[in-house]
Amino acid sequence: MNRQRPRMATIAVGGAEPPPRGWPAGMATPVFGSVTYELDGDAYADIARTGGTDTWWYSRLRNPTVEAAAAKVAALEGAERALLFSSGMAAIATTLLALLPPGGRVVAARDLYGDVFTLLCNELPRHGRSADFVAIDDHEGWRRELARGADLLYVETLSNPMLRVADLPALAAMARQFDTLALADATFTPPSLLRSLDLGFDLVLHSATKFLNGHSDVVAGAVAGSSAILEAVAAEASILGGCLDPHAASMLDRGLKTLVIRTEHQSASAYTLADRLSRHPEIEHVAYPLLDTHPDQALAKDLLPAGGAIVSFRVSGGDERALALLDAVVVIHQATSLGGVESLASAPHNTSHLGLSAAELAAAGILPGTIRLSVGLEDVDDLIADLDSALRQTSTVSSR
Ligand code: PLP
Repeated sequence: MNRQRPRMATIAVGGAEPPPRGWPAGMATPVFGSVTYELDGDAYADIARTGGTDTWWYSRLRNPTVEAAAAKVAALEGAERALLFSSGMAAIATTLLALLPPGGRVVAARDLYGDVFTLLCNELPRHGRSADFVAIDDHEGWRRELARGADLLYVETLSNPMLRVADLPALAAMARQFDTLALADATFTPPSLLRSLDLGFDLVLHSATKFLNGHSDVVAGAVAGSSAILEAVAAEASILGGCLDPHAASMLDRGLKTLVIRTEHQSASAYTLADRLSRHPEIEHVAYPLLDTHPDQALAKDLLPAGGAIVSFRVSGGDERALALLDAVVVIHQATSLGGVESLASAPHNTSHLGLSAAELAAAGILPGTIRLSVGLEDVDDLIADLDSALRQTSTVSSR
């Protein structure tokens, strides 16, 4: 039999790794709900020698269900190891605190998820660390800031909500040149669409709440990379305590089984919708990486050929029209978050980027009338009909 390395869809379904020793080989990952485990002489010896790295001891430190799901995330990202957390924010905060020494500095892209921006601007300084920001495509700016000395480079692979594509190979090369660890938040680009570690990044982070789980029913986070780097993160995680619940881990493991087929289908529908919206007379702008009008189209064709499952667009009539449109859709849900099987739409100015001034929104390219759409698995013709109908129903709003 041909023993080639399993491909992404095979790993996702779960046939790539044998079950842990002593587990019956069921099709679903069992939930080990127990917080604590029987100890014996071997366990005490391991705890004394290693701190218990080989022992099921206490579930905040290690849990079989959580580790099974983490192993799958690692395999999907092509990483030696992955760690799971109770949320994407827990994954990011724990990783940054673990890897930034006191007085340490992170250089980050300016376009970031709002709470991560707050973490960098407000929380890190409270803990004696600092952050400086660069426009995602300003290569000279990255070089200048890294040359001043930095511990970490931090970027979102696809920015929220205007979908700028980070030049991951170039940024990874710069980070290496300046002896800086490169971290990518790939929440918008799950490994079925883009693998950040293959492009030279040291660690990849996820809000696993989004595409990795994919069903809008689990809050979780992940970080994947080399075992050597993640050892420090695991130690920090055990103290900060943002561990994933084993029930949530088994849900995540189940969600991952369909990751490839979900994200391929969602991306194809997103491209169809983006193309369609770009030809609608009342849509002023569509941000989708594969469109001719996107500033990073060439980079996207190279790094993200499927294009991704998020479309951002600006409707004529400003925020009033955008909010009316969100009220008018019926197949698409008016809700924040993304990456689920249901299509979700929101206006960044009152959700993901709430708190930014009009000038800050404009600087981020979020002009009045902007809507972010996470495309789900509904029939794309129903999504098109839903948007067409909502645009028709709200056309008077734009003429005010
Ligand atoms: N990173 C990005 C790009 C996000 O969009 C989000 C949440 O929307 C997070 C991190 C935080 O993830 P969580 O909500 O799972 O804590």
